Amino acid sequence: MRILVVGAGVAGLATARGLVRAGHEVEVYERAPMLRTAGGSVTLWSGSTGILRDLGVDLTGVGRRIDAMESRSPDGRPMLTVDVAAVARRYGTPNVHLPRQRLVERLADGLPDGVLRLGFTCTHVDHARGEITFADGSTARGDVVVGADGRSSVVRGHLWGADPGQITEWVTWQGFVKGPLDLVSSHRVLMIVGREGLCGLIPAGEGLLLWWFDHRADHREPLPASPVEALAARFGDWAAPVPEVLASIGEVDRFTHHRHRVPKVWGRGCTTLAGDAAHSMPPTMAQGANQGLEDGWTLARELDGPGAVVERLRRYERIRSRQAARAADLAATESTNKYRPQALTRLIPDALVTAGYIAWLRRVSTYLSTAAV
Ligand SMILES: Cc1cc2nc3c(=O)[nH]c(=O)nc-3n(C[C@H](O)[C@H](O)[C@H](O)COP(=O)(O)OP(=O)(O)OC[C@H]3O[C@@H](n4cnc5c(N)ncnc54)[C@H](O)[C@@H]3O)c2cc1C
Repeated sequence: MRILVVGAGVAGLATARGLVRAGHEVEVYERAPMLRTAGGSVTLWSGSTGILRDLGVDLTGVGRRIDAMESRSPDGRPMLTVDVAAVARRYGTPNVHLPRQRLVERLADGLPDGVLRLGFTCTHVDHARGEITFADGSTARGDVVVGADGRSSVVRGHLWGADPGQITEWVTWQGFVKGPLDLVSSHRVLMIVGREGLCGLIPAGEGLLLWWFDHRADHREPLPASPVEALAARFGDWAAPVPEVLASIGEVDRFTHHRHRVPKVWGRGCTTLAGDAAHSMPPTMAQGANQGLEDGWTLARELDGPGAVVERLRRYERIRSRQAARAADLAATESTNKYRPQALTRLIPDALVTAGYIAWLRRVSTYLSTAAV
């Protein structure tokens, strides 16, 4: 089949990798003049590294294996540790945290020449004819069109109408630093939650530590003149290593959180969606990139199944919508950012939280939930 993918983000590139591998003729149309490699870093759970292995994407030498998620109170007391290495042991594929740039590069690296077409902005989709129109008036036609064009998807706009996304009250500030060394060289995520918000620290490989601060914000207020000073005012009296991280911050990125309900049916006719176009969610459960990879892998698998193409696309959407909705619904509660009484949290055994977390990862992953274990 000839398949047109709109958008060369994580979801579009993973979709293209899966479809090329399945023998389809694929064209990926990206509006930017080059691959968009900006951003922080992303956590790939065991299902996603399994998917990348299946897609022939080599992660050798990039990122950092993550074995534990440790939660602490602002005064430095340990609260909970989730042994995420248990999921890796069970499924045989690791959890890895890596710069988004590296993931995009590795996904694109294996695509045959001519698949990636940069500088094409999709402005219209005819879902009955499988035809895309671009900003310069040119068109392309395929047997299937996949809208992987992100949170403000044009393809979704032609299918669903108005943007379903809503901004939540939370905002993230993030960037990379090169210390503290014990964290940079560790295999654990550190999350500190207090009444002021959350501080997260996670090694991303290449000597980098991703830091992020989440807090509630009134979006009508002007942005702080100095984000670092504003963060220091809010979080500066927290225990080590927070002051050290605040003192070494250089470049700062800010993004607001978006959520929307994930419907059961994503497309019409021979058009469907993948990634944030179908299910943008706050970053709190670290699922955005993972759900995009799951979409790409599942779509390639279902398009090889029985029935008419339109039936195969709707089957893909049914499978993915259930799991993506679970991930999006939990992420939308922003529960990981919310302060809870410490005495209560410390009563929960780590083993119980670990078992619950592994079960949840399986429930949001088509790859893990169909894996033989
Ligand atoms: C530059 C960038 C930086 C990011 N940084 C972070 C981060 O730091 N942390 C985090 O958690 N998430 C980040 N994300 C989001 C994260 O990558 C996604 O949530 C997740 O990977 C799902 O990706 P996606 O492919 O569905 O969407 P996206 O990653 O948004 O990719 C969509 C792609 O479609 C292209 N596109 C959009 N409209 C059109 C059009 N009309 N025609 C053709 N192409 C179009 C865009 O240019 C983009 O390349 C970032 C996304 C981008 C694009």
